[in-house]
Amino acid sequence: MSEVTELGYLRIGVSDLAAWRTFATEILGLQVRDDTEPDRLYLRSDAWHHRIILEQDGSDDILAAGLRVAGPEEFRIMQDTLRQHEVPFEVADKQTAHSRRVLEVMLLKDPAGIPLEIFHGPQVDTHIPFHPGRGMFGKFVTGSGGLGHAMLVSPDLNATYEFYKRLGMRGSIEYQVPRPDGHTVELLFMHCNTRDHTFAFGMPAKGRINHMMMEVSTLDDVYLTYELVKQADMDIAILPGKHANDQMFSFYCISPSGFQVEVGWGARPASHQSEYYTGDSYGHQFTPAGMPS
Ligand code: FE
Repeated sequence: MSEVTELGYLRIGVSDLAAWRTFATEILGLQVRDDTEPDRLYLRSDAWHHRIILEQDGSDDILAAGLRVAGPEEFRIMQDTLRQHEVPFEVADKQTAHSRRVLEVMLLKDPAGIPLEIFHGPQVDTHIPFHPGRGMFGKFVTGSGGLGHAMLVSPDLNATYEFYKRLGMRGSIEYQVPRPDGHTVELLFMHCNTRDHTFAFGMPAKGRINHMMMEVSTLDDVYLTYELVKQADMDIAILPGKHANDQMFSFYCISPSGFQVEVGWGARPASHQSEYYTGDSYGHQFTPAGMPS
């Protein structure tokens, strides 16, 4: 069996590339690559060529989540697994692989229709030290935990669980949150490495993504980002607080595409055992702008 090892990159379709460029560099601290094209911006948070690709197409949604497998053999075995479970996929041509700066990539969709790109062999530019778009106290936490995590839409949590299990991910329902109307909101979390979760499902979204998360190595960088968001008059969606599952201290702002970006610090590693919670440790109140609809 072949297993995905990390969320390697995200491709995001945007309507306002200039606003995203400012947000990504001056607020989040990401670095723009010099081989960026007029309608495509490569952003990095570590030694990889990029961790995010922004494409000006007006969609304001994720275009794909790039999931890594270890190497060429695992790439072949993953194809066998997908065939066995009758999941349609297409191995992309060299040009497409080059646009993602990977050796090989296959394109498929999850049960909710979210485009995935399973790849191996990312371009890693150790000769260009990461240089943040603005000063940072520390750095982005990536490494074996990958880019971060993403909360994606899922109309059927069981189907989503079964699908990602076949890609080698593990997980379970980790929140059962009672709502004032008597309903209970269930959230599903899946992991594939040391990061507590790589994908989460169950919150509503305008498009395919509710939020993406990037982790920083110091609490100061969380609060610096928080202050920069406020100074830029951008909307905070969820106030600072601590999650019960990954125990991350974080806050959420609203990106120029309308979905949320979480910046966090201090997460514990994946416990590889299921647990569930009925709420967060503290904080994380929704603002009016971030209220789920
Ligand atoms: Fe999150």
